[in-house]
Amino acid sequence: MPSATLVKPGSKVSLKDISPDYAGPQTKEEAEARLNTLRGELEAQQEIMYAAGEHSLLVIFQGMDTSGKDGAIRGVFGDVNPAGCRVESFKVPTEEERAHDFLWRVHKVTPRRGMTAVFNRSHYEDVLVVRVHDLVPKKVWKKRYDTINQFEAMLADSNTIILKFFLHISKEEQEKRLIAREGDVEKAWKLSAADWRERDYWDEYQAAYEDALGKCSTDVAPWYIVPANRKWYRNLVIAETVVEAVKGYRKEWARTLEMMSQERLAELHAYRAQQQAQQKG
Ligand code: AMP
Ligand code: MG
Repeated sequence: MPSATLVKPGSKVSLKDISPDYAGPQTKEEAEARLNTLRGELEAQQEIMYAAGEHSLLVIFQGMDTSGKDGAIRGVFGDVNPAGCRVESFKVPTEEERAHDFLWRVHKVTPRRGMTAVFNRSHYEDVLVVRVHDLVPKKVWKKRYDTINQFEAMLADSNTIILKFFLHISKEEQEKRLIAREGDVEKAWKLSAADWRERDYWDEYQAAYEDALGKCSTDVAPWYIVPANRKWYRNLVIAETVVEAVKGYRKEWARTLEMMSQERLAELHAYRAQQQAQQKG
Protein backbone atom coordinates (compact mmCIF):
# COMPACT_ATOMS: atom_id res chain seq x y z
CA MET A 1 0.00 0.00 0.00
CA PRO A 2 1.42 3.41 -0.86
CA SER A 3 2.18 5.30 2.28
CA ALA A 4 3.37 8.58 3.66
CA THR A 5 6.31 8.77 6.04
CA LEU A 6 4.98 8.86 9.57
CA VAL A 7 7.22 11.11 11.66
CA LYS A 8 8.22 9.31 14.85
CA PRO A 9 7.49 11.41 17.93
CA GLY A 10 10.63 13.17 19.12
CA SER A 11 12.68 12.22 16.06
CA LYS A 12 14.97 14.48 14.05
CA VAL A 13 13.62 14.95 10.56
CA SER A 14 15.87 15.29 7.53
CA LEU A 15 13.77 16.27 4.53
CA LYS A 16 16.73 15.81 2.20
CA ASP A 17 16.58 12.09 2.92
CA ILE A 18 12.97 11.75 1.81
CA SER A 19 12.35 11.81 -1.91
CA PRO A 20 9.58 14.15 -3.07
CA ASP A 21 9.59 12.20 -6.34
CA TYR A 22 8.68 8.85 -4.84
CA ALA A 23 5.54 7.52 -6.49
CA GLY A 24 5.14 3.92 -5.32
CA PRO A 25 4.86 0.81 -7.45
CA GLN A 26 1.48 1.48 -9.06
CA THR A 27 0.82 3.32 -12.31
CA LYS A 28 -0.91 6.67 -12.47
CA GLU A 29 -4.05 5.00 -13.85
CA GLU A 30 -4.12 2.49 -11.00
CA ALA A 31 -3.61 5.30 -8.51
CA GLU A 32 -6.50 7.27 -9.94
CA ALA A 33 -8.85 4.29 -9.85
CA ARG A 34 -7.91 3.57 -6.26
CA LEU A 35 -8.32 7.23 -5.32
CA ASN A 36 -11.85 7.12 -6.66
CA THR A 37 -12.67 4.22 -4.35
CA LEU A 38 -11.06 6.00 -1.42
CA ARG A 39 -13.00 9.19 -2.09
CA GLY A 40 -16.17 7.12 -1.76
CA GLU A 41 -14.89 5.61 1.49
CA LEU A 42 -14.22 9.08 2.85
CA GLU A 43 -17.71 10.16 1.96
CA ALA A 44 -19.19 7.14 3.73
CA GLN A 45 -16.97 7.58 6.78
CA GLN A 46 -18.04 11.20 7.10
CA GLU A 47 -21.73 10.23 6.98
CA ILE A 48 -21.30 7.72 9.81
CA MET A 49 -19.15 10.04 11.89
CA TYR A 50 -21.77 12.76 11.51
CA ALA A 51 -24.64 10.50 12.48
CA ALA A 52 -22.81 9.01 15.46
CA GLY A 53 -21.80 12.51 16.64
CA GLU A 54 -19.04 11.28 18.92
CA HIS A 55 -15.85 12.33 17.17
CA SER A 56 -14.62 15.03 14.86
CA LEU A 57 -11.85 14.94 12.29
CA LEU A 58 -9.18 17.59 11.83
CA VAL A 59 -6.90 17.32 8.81
CA ILE A 60 -4.08 19.85 8.56
CA PHE A 61 -2.20 20.67 5.36
CA GLN A 62 1.11 22.47 5.33
CA GLY A 63 3.71 22.84 2.61
CA MET A 64 5.77 25.32 0.65
CA ASP A 65 4.04 27.61 -1.86
CA THR A 66 2.77 25.56 -4.84
CA SER A 67 3.11 22.30 -2.90
CA GLY A 68 -0.52 21.55 -3.74
CA LYS A 69 -2.53 22.20 -0.61
CA ASP A 70 -5.58 23.40 -2.53
CA GLY A 71 -5.31 20.60 -5.07
CA ALA A 72 -4.98 17.95 -2.37
CA ILE A 73 -8.03 19.24 -0.52
CA ARG A 74 -10.11 19.14 -3.70
CA GLY A 75 -8.67 15.85 -4.90
CA VAL A 76 -9.11 13.98 -1.62
CA PHE A 77 -12.19 15.52 0.00
CA GLY A 78 -14.11 16.49 -3.13
CA ASP A 79 -16.80 13.84 -2.65
CA VAL A 80 -17.45 14.47 1.03
CA ASN A 81 -20.86 15.97 1.79
CA PRO A 82 -20.21 19.70 2.24
CA ALA A 83 -22.75 19.73 5.08
CA GLY A 84 -20.29 17.78 7.20
CA CYS A 85 -16.99 19.23 6.09
CA ARG A 86 -15.46 22.69 6.25
CA VAL A 87 -12.24 24.02 4.81
CA GLU A 88 -10.45 26.73 6.79
CA SER A 89 -7.66 28.78 5.20
CA PHE A 90 -5.22 30.68 7.38
CA LYS A 91 -3.85 33.87 5.87
CA VAL A 92 -1.72 36.66 7.31
CA PRO A 93 -3.43 37.37 10.67
CA THR A 94 -5.76 40.34 10.86
CA GLU A 95 -5.17 43.04 13.41
CA GLU A 96 -7.75 41.48 15.68
CA GLU A 97 -6.19 38.03 15.35
CA ARG A 98 -2.73 39.42 16.06
CA ALA A 99 -4.05 41.08 19.19
CA HIS A 100 -4.82 37.61 20.62
CA ASP A 101 -2.74 34.54 21.37
CA PHE A 102 -1.76 32.65 18.22
CA LEU A 103 -4.22 29.81 18.80
CA TRP A 104 -7.26 32.03 19.22
CA ARG A 105 -8.26 32.08 15.57
CA VAL A 106 -7.51 28.38 15.24
CA HIS A 107 -9.44 27.14 18.23
CA LYS A 108 -12.55 28.98 17.05
CA VAL A 109 -12.74 26.85 13.91
CA THR A 110 -11.80 23.41 15.17
CA PRO A 111 -14.46 20.87 14.18
CA ARG A 112 -17.43 20.17 16.42
CA ARG A 113 -18.41 16.53 16.94
CA GLY A 114 -19.55 14.90 13.76
CA MET A 115 -17.74 17.37 11.56
CA THR A 116 -14.56 17.35 9.50
CA ALA A 117 -12.39 20.45 9.32
CA VAL A 118 -9.64 20.67 6.75
CA PHE A 119 -7.00 23.31 7.44
CA ASN A 120 -5.22 24.95 4.52
CA ARG A 121 -2.24 26.21 6.57
CA SER A 122 -2.72 26.37 10.30
CA HIS A 123 -1.21 27.34 13.64
CA TYR A 124 2.04 25.86 12.30
CA GLU A 125 2.55 29.09 10.34
CA ASP A 126 3.37 30.56 13.73
CA VAL A 127 6.54 28.45 13.90
CA LEU A 128 7.23 28.61 10.13
CA VAL A 129 6.77 31.97 8.37
CA VAL A 130 6.93 33.68 11.74
CA ARG A 131 10.26 32.05 12.53
CA VAL A 132 11.77 32.49 9.07
CA HIS A 133 10.95 36.19 9.00
CA ASP A 134 11.53 36.97 12.68
CA LEU A 135 7.97 38.21 13.08
CA VAL A 136 8.25 37.57 16.80
CA PRO A 137 11.40 37.06 18.92
CA LYS A 138 12.90 33.57 19.07
CA LYS A 139 12.07 33.22 22.76
CA VAL A 140 8.41 33.61 21.82
CA TRP A 141 8.20 31.13 18.92
CA LYS A 142 10.42 28.58 20.68
CA LYS A 143 7.78 28.03 23.33
CA ARG A 144 5.10 27.43 20.73
CA TYR A 145 6.05 23.83 19.94
CA ASP A 146 5.08 22.78 23.46
CA THR A 147 2.00 24.97 23.38
CA ILE A 148 0.93 23.38 20.10
CA ASN A 149 1.44 19.87 21.47
CA GLN A 150 -0.65 20.69 24.53
CA PHE A 151 -3.36 22.27 22.40
CA GLU A 152 -3.57 19.30 20.05
CA ALA A 153 -3.53 16.85 22.97
CA MET A 154 -6.45 18.75 24.47
CA LEU A 155 -8.37 18.54 21.19
CA ALA A 156 -7.64 14.82 20.97
CA ASP A 157 -8.92 14.40 24.52
CA SER A 158 -12.17 15.93 23.32
CA ASN A 159 -12.51 13.23 20.65
CA THR A 160 -10.87 15.04 17.75
CA ILE A 161 -9.05 12.72 15.37
CA ILE A 162 -6.05 14.72 14.13
CA LEU A 163 -3.95 14.06 11.03
CA LYS A 164 -1.29 16.40 9.70
CA PHE A 165 0.21 16.30 6.22
CA PHE A 166 3.35 18.00 5.02
CA LEU A 167 3.34 18.15 1.22
CA HIS A 168 6.95 17.62 0.28
CA ILE A 169 8.03 19.08 -3.07
CA SER A 170 11.51 19.81 -4.41
CA LYS A 171 12.82 23.29 -5.08
CA GLU A 172 13.02 22.44 -8.80
CA GLU A 173 9.40 21.33 -8.86
CA GLN A 174 8.37 24.59 -7.20
CA GLU A 175 10.15 26.57 -9.90
CA LYS A 176 8.36 24.58 -12.61
CA ARG A 177 5.01 25.20 -11.00
CA LEU A 178 5.61 28.92 -10.53
CA ILE A 179 6.62 29.27 -14.16
CA ALA A 180 3.65 27.21 -15.30
CA ARG A 181 1.32 29.59 -13.45
CA GLU A 182 2.75 32.48 -15.42
CA GLY A 183 1.98 30.78 -18.68
CA ASP A 184 -1.58 29.79 -17.79
CA VAL A 185 -4.16 32.59 -17.71
CA GLU A 186 -6.47 30.40 -15.67
CA LYS A 187 -3.87 29.89 -12.98
CA ALA A 188 -2.16 33.27 -13.10
CA TRP A 189 -4.51 34.67 -10.45
CA LYS A 190 -2.63 32.51 -7.98
CA LEU A 191 0.66 34.19 -8.87
CA SER A 192 2.34 36.46 -6.47
CA ALA A 193 5.73 38.09 -6.58
CA ALA A 194 5.90 37.16 -2.90
CA ASP A 195 6.11 33.49 -3.88
CA TRP A 196 9.36 34.17 -5.73
CA ARG A 197 10.65 36.22 -2.81
CA GLU A 198 9.75 33.45 -0.36
CA ARG A 199 11.64 31.00 -2.54
CA ASP A 200 14.88 32.72 -1.53
CA TYR A 201 14.20 31.46 1.99
CA TRP A 202 13.80 27.85 0.88
CA ASP A 203 16.51 26.44 3.18
CA GLU A 204 15.27 28.39 6.19
CA TYR A 205 11.75 27.08 5.58
CA GLN A 206 12.96 23.50 5.22
CA ALA A 207 14.81 23.82 8.53
CA ALA A 208 11.76 25.32 10.21
CA TYR A 209 9.62 22.48 8.82
CA GLU A 210 12.07 19.85 10.04
CA ASP A 211 11.78 21.24 13.57
CA ALA A 212 8.00 21.55 13.46
CA LEU A 213 7.56 18.02 12.12
CA GLY A 214 9.98 16.46 14.59
CA LYS A 215 8.87 18.36 17.68
CA CYS A 216 5.13 18.22 17.04
CA SER A 217 4.48 14.73 15.77
CA THR A 218 2.70 12.90 18.59
CA ASP A 219 0.71 9.70 18.91
CA VAL A 220 -2.54 11.65 19.03
CA ALA A 221 -1.60 14.16 16.33
CA PRO A 222 0.93 12.60 13.97
CA TRP A 223 2.70 14.33 11.10
CA TYR A 224 2.95 12.56 7.76
CA ILE A 225 5.42 13.56 5.07
CA VAL A 226 3.85 13.14 1.64
CA PRO A 227 5.98 12.91 -1.52
CA ALA A 228 4.20 15.59 -3.51
CA ASN A 229 6.07 16.18 -6.75
CA ARG A 230 3.43 14.02 -8.43
CA LYS A 231 -0.06 15.21 -7.74
CA TRP A 232 -1.80 11.88 -8.30
CA TYR A 233 0.53 10.11 -5.90
CA ARG A 234 0.16 12.86 -3.33
CA ASN A 235 -3.64 12.53 -3.38
CA LEU A 236 -3.53 8.77 -3.22
CA VAL A 237 -1.22 8.71 -0.21
CA ILE A 238 -3.28 11.25 1.71
CA ALA A 239 -6.56 9.47 0.99
CA GLU A 240 -5.11 6.09 2.02
CA THR A 241 -3.79 7.56 5.26
CA VAL A 242 -7.05 9.26 6.25
CA VAL A 243 -9.20 6.23 5.43
CA GLU A 244 -6.85 3.94 7.33
CA ALA A 245 -6.74 6.21 10.39
CA VAL A 246 -10.51 6.58 10.58
CA LYS A 247 -11.27 2.91 9.91
CA GLY A 248 -10.56 1.98 13.52
CA TYR A 249 -13.44 4.15 14.73
CA ARG A 250 -16.07 2.81 12.38
CA LYS A 251 -17.04 -0.17 14.55
CA GLU A 252 -17.61 2.09 17.52
CA TRP A 253 -19.72 4.48 15.43
CA ALA A 254 -21.69 1.60 13.95
CA ARG A 255 -22.48 0.39 17.48
CA THR A 256 -23.62 3.86 18.49
CA LEU A 257 -25.85 4.09 15.42
CA GLU A 258 -27.30 0.66 16.14
CA MET A 259 -28.16 1.74 19.68
CA MET A 260 -29.64 5.00 18.44
CA SER A 261 -31.75 3.09 15.93
CA GLN A 262 -33.04 0.75 18.61
CA GLU A 263 -33.96 3.66 20.86
CA ARG A 264 -35.77 5.45 18.06
CA LEU A 265 -37.66 2.32 17.09
CA ALA A 266 -38.63 1.65 20.69
CA GLU A 267 -39.94 5.21 20.95
CA LEU A 268 -41.95 4.76 17.79
CA HIS A 269 -43.38 1.44 18.93
CA ALA A 270 -44.38 2.94 22.24
CA TYR A 271 -46.09 5.80 20.43
CA ARG A 272 -48.03 3.43 18.16
CA ALA A 273 -49.11 1.28 21.10
CA GLN A 274 -50.36 4.36 22.90
CA GLN A 275 -52.32 5.46 19.82
CA GLN A 276 -53.96 2.09 19.49
CA ALA A 277 -54.90 2.06 23.14
CA GLN A 278 -56.52 5.48 22.74
CA GLN A 279 -58.48 4.41 19.67
CA LYS A 280 -59.87 1.39 21.51
CA GLY A 281 -60.70 3.38 24.60
P1 AMP B 1 -1.92 31.63 0.52
O1 AMP B 1 -1.90 30.31 1.20
O2 AMP B 1 -1.20 31.64 -0.79
O3 AMP B 1 -3.28 32.20 0.42
O4 AMP B 1 -1.07 32.64 1.42
C1 AMP B 1 -1.36 32.87 2.76
C2 AMP B 1 -0.19 33.62 3.34
O5 AMP B 1 -0.48 33.92 4.68
C3 AMP B 1 1.09 32.83 3.30
O6 AMP B 1 2.14 33.61 2.80
C4 AMP B 1 1.34 32.53 4.77
O7 AMP B 1 2.68 32.42 5.11
C5 AMP B 1 0.67 33.72 5.45
N1 AMP B 1 0.34 33.40 6.83
C6 AMP B 1 -0.51 32.45 7.28
N2 AMP B 1 -0.52 32.41 8.63
C7 AMP B 1 0.34 33.36 9.05
C8 AMP B 1 0.78 33.81 10.32
N3 AMP B 1 0.32 33.26 11.46
N4 AMP B 1 1.66 34.83 10.36
C9 AMP B 1 2.13 35.39 9.22
N5 AMP B 1 1.77 35.01 7.99
C10 AMP B 1 0.89 34.00 7.89
MG1 MG C 1 0.41 31.59 -2.06
